[in-house]
Amino acid sequence: MKKLVLIAAAAVLALNLNGQNIVKGSIEGAPHHQSYMPTYSSDGSSRTPKNIILMIGDGTGLAQIASGYFANGEELTYTNLKHLGWVTTKSADAFTTDSAASGTAYACGQKTYNHAVGVNLEKKPIPNIPEIVIANGVISGVVSTDDLNGATPASFFAHQPNRGMTNEIWGDLPGAAIRYFAAGSKEVFEKRPIATQKDVQRAFTVVHSLDDPAIATAQNVGVLPPAVETGYIVDGRTDFLPKATRQAIDFLRTRTEGDKGFFLMVEGARIDKACHSNKFESAVRELLDFDQAIAEAIKFADEDGNTLVVISADHETSGLAVWGGDPSKGNVEGVHVSGGHTALPVPLFAYGPHAQDFIGVQGNEQVAQKIIKLLMEK
Ligand SMILES: [Zn+2]
Repeated sequence: MKKLVLIAAAAVLALNLNGQNIVKGSIEGAPHHQSYMPTYSSDGSSRTPKNIILMIGDGTGLAQIASGYFANGEELTYTNLKHLGWVTTKSADAFTTDSAASGTAYACGQKTYNHAVGVNLEKKPIPNIPEIVIANGVISGVVSTDDLNGATPASFFAHQPNRGMTNEIWGDLPGAAIRYFAAGSKEVFEKRPIATQKDVQRAFTVVHSLDDPAIATAQNVGVLPPAVETGYIVDGRTDFLPKATRQAIDFLRTRTEGDKGFFLMVEGARIDKACHSNKFESAVRELLDFDQAIAEAIKFADEDGNTLVVISADHETSGLAVWGGDPSKGNVEGVHVSGGHTALPVPLFAYGPHAQDFIGVQGNEQVAQKIIKLLMEK
């Protein structure tokens, strides 16, 4: 019997290795957006940046970016940037990371175990960038198309031994060092214990639309729109991510005391989720939307002249390959070889003062260490 099971298991493996498990998809005629061409006037300068914007394309490897580039007529704001690096993403206990361990590495500058949110291998809380840089007067914000308790955004305000501890993660929010958040969702928030909801509402002016006039005068803001507004683009999300990115920048910029600067984390969360489901077209549409959020950050960096923007990913998802297509028609064919994450290093793009610090090969935790150093030395 044991032998039969082993033979059956080997047969399934062989089918997978023979390519029976790969999923093909294609995209053509995606809405085109014009990329933003930076001025490069502050790019690579040696001045210490006042503000830093970290943008994380969840699950975004080279093929996800390349698919967007070819689907968009061979242009992206991403690919207009000139300082490029390569980030390795392994966690402390696995070659292939999850979003919690990599989010924690990006948020806290330390490797930890898969599923950990803002805690170390001993499950002890470790300080995140917003908690560290506030000592230097720098204020912070978080924007994501995931629920706020998703592993990546949570790593920037919560400290819990497991990413699945949703109520505990929300429970960390009132004591967080962030001043602005925009993420999913009204429905998720309303499922939390009443006491947690009240604590969050005491710490933040909670609104359910980016257009709420209360945002203009509030000291701390939490935007939790209805779930559809942070759901997939193919399911009706419109411009939430670029709009929230610009709003977060304007909110933080106008509330920094003594011009001390800000830190903002922006996550394009659904590139990963679409790749988990092997939905190629959806993944590319999410990448194109993330690129428009990148454009907002780069435009601000040009207006401000003293803002560094760092764009990378927490890991690659689905082993995506660009299989073929016809770039002249915006047609791209993609192949997913898995429904999970891979250990493939991910590209990094940087723009602004000290962008040159981020070129070359580095670990995800080193990206955070460099950001902390820059925000603490000014
Ligand atoms: Zn994932």
